[in-house]
Amino acid sequence: MQVLFDYVLFHFKRVYHLPEPLDISYGFQNSSRIQIRQSSTTFFSQKEAQPESVIWKDWQGTSLPLFFVSFTELDWLTQTASGTVVVNYDLIASGFYLLSGWQEFYSSNRDQFGRFPYASSVQARHKFITKPIVNYYFEVLRAAVELAYGQKITQKTWNGKPFATCLSHDIDYCQSAWKVAGKPALQKGRLGLFLKLAAQKALGKDAWFNFQQVEQELEQLNAKASFFFLPEQGNYQGHPNADYNVCSNLTQQQINRLQQAGHEIAVHGSHGSSINLEQLKSEKEKLAIPVTGNRFHYLRFDPDRTPEVVDELGFTYDSTLGFPEHFGFRNSYCHPFKLFNFNSGQSTDTWEVPLNLMDVTLNHPNYLQLMPLQVLPAITPMLNEIIRFNGVFTLLWHNENFSAYGLQGGLQMFQEITQFLQKQGTGFFTIHEVVKQTEA
Ligand SMILES: [Zn+2]
Repeated sequence: MQVLFDYVLFHFKRVYHLPEPLDISYGFQNSSRIQIRQSSTTFFSQKEAQPESVIWKDWQGTSLPLFFVSFTELDWLTQTASGTVVVNYDLIASGFYLLSGWQEFYSSNRDQFGRFPYASSVQARHKFITKPIVNYYFEVLRAAVELAYGQKITQKTWNGKPFATCLSHDIDYCQSAWKVAGKPALQKGRLGLFLKLAAQKALGKDAWFNFQQVEQELEQLNAKASFFFLPEQGNYQGHPNADYNVCSNLTQQQINRLQQAGHEIAVHGSHGSSINLEQLKSEKEKLAIPVTGNRFHYLRFDPDRTPEVVDELGFTYDSTLGFPEHFGFRNSYCHPFKLFNFNSGQSTDTWEVPLNLMDVTLNHPNYLQLMPLQVLPAITPMLNEIIRFNGVFTLLWHNENFSAYGLQGGLQMFQEITQFLQKQGTGFFTIHEVVKQTEA
């Protein structure tokens, strides 16, 4: 249970300005100023994916799920005559369960891409995908510290900004708008549109070769973003990788330009690379510039192999973990966290910067099917949670959805969401910058 405590406490210490050293213990065996009640659960030795039961307890108007306790009648915190503060609920066990992604490792449910399905998650089952529950647990722990030390504990900010936004762009396609958008145009008899797209392509300016357009949008926001380039071309088991060659002069020019403008370049690991160290290594090398981050194409993440793969390759961060089917908090947390390796039973050195919203999620026939006007109202409660906890919002907007030949109303949606964030006072950072600030 020491591993659980160390893992959870490591993250708690990264979001608040806390007394150092912090006199806190898990269980009642020490005489610490703060003592967290340890449940007697055998759950973590049984390798089950999900706890049998969940109970709910109110914290300042929000109902929080707790997994390894059978009572709710005690207050969250009690203080003894000698001043010791007792946290009456095992927030370490519940926090570890959610943050480490335990359910994904111990569940055998996978979709056609080997991904853990949202429908199988405890978040879907108990409907809390848009609540960062672990951050709420930390708020309880903060209250315990304030009570024990008699001082106010403040949250860390992002270079003075109350919350951070990471805008990110996976570059899957930048050469095939003429084909993907052109063919349906031709079939519908819209010869003019087809000819326009084909002519653009012939001039070497496919409508999806729109890096400058993306950059201009970012400039309007005074934002630096993270661009994930896919170094593998062609199909993999029938599924597409990049439609461009990352080593070509054409692509390398764009990469250099983006980098010079202050944007981050990172790897977009291709199909199969999340379980194949050699493959991801060669893709990282193909980019021919030093990179610190990765996100897997199709958000393919195997909880058994992937933490080890990215850790062994020395990636500072991964930013794959969001459910494609639903926006929100896959690990119930709105800050970066260290990936946990269940095979070794230890935390890795690689940060996960969780992905909160992907454009495709919003209207893909398999996912949410929201109308453009419904998008901002639908995601605002999630954004407000991130603001409340001084967290990080990570958005994935594919370059083709800035063009007129991608997601319908894609550009307007991007503008609407980012302008809302700007009004709320966010700081826009690359993912690399957010990780550096988290480590500091
Ligand atoms: Zn992709």
